[in-house]
Amino acid sequence: MNYKGLFFDIIRSCPICGKSFLKFGDLPCEVCRESILSKADFDHRVYTGDFDFSIWSPLNFKDREVKDFIYSIKSGPESVFLYDYCAQIFLTTLMDKEFSFEVIVPVPSLQKRDHAYQLAYSLSDKLNLPLLNILEKAVDRSQKGLSRGGRGTIQFRLKPSFDHSEPLKRGFKGVLLIDDVVTTGQTLIKCKEALEKVFANFTALCLVYTPKEN
Ligand SMILES: [Zn+2]
Repeated sequence: MNYKGLFFDIIRSCPICGKSFLKFGDLPCEVCRESILSKADFDHRVYTGDFDFSIWSPLNFKDREVKDFIYSIKSGPESVFLYDYCAQIFLTTLMDKEFSFEVIVPVPSLQKRDHAYQLAYSLSDKLNLPLLNILEKAVDRSQKGLSRGGRGTIQFRLKPSFDHSEPLKRGFKGVLLIDDVVTTGQTLIKCKEALEKVFANFTALCLVYTPKEN
């Protein structure tokens, strides 16, 4: 057994303030967790004519700590503790509000790392609701080169393996769509279009909503 490895395993380095500490299970560090939670707006939602559903986004990307936190999720080492903390933020956002969903669906990742799935997984565990990973990218072959600028051309569809009669059989009508960062909201709209074949109600939840200027 590699004791050195074991030792470094329990030393955690906070992705926000960079401080190292000896504690199992907490990331970011306690101070940064509290700081982010104290500044979060759990009633913040985006609702514009472009979407016919609300997108709840409790964190403010203009905040330095939030920015560092999001970057650490996006590009830092993958950590179940970070995902767990995000799920707690989601859980607090959902608290004491009326929603109508029975399942959680992650927005499919356009990158290699599947953050939305990890966040949705953590949240489904806390809410004890089924996680349905049923969406996939459907590449429109007439549109070559799906670069960043070409995001709008990406379509989503229900995975062929998904039994379309299952929601009706199990009484699932509403979906909670989960993503980490929402920029234009177009991805969510496309996901909703695909899900509309089998679901009726939609709520979207992300950590931050960062329209344009970022
Ligand atoms: Zn910290």
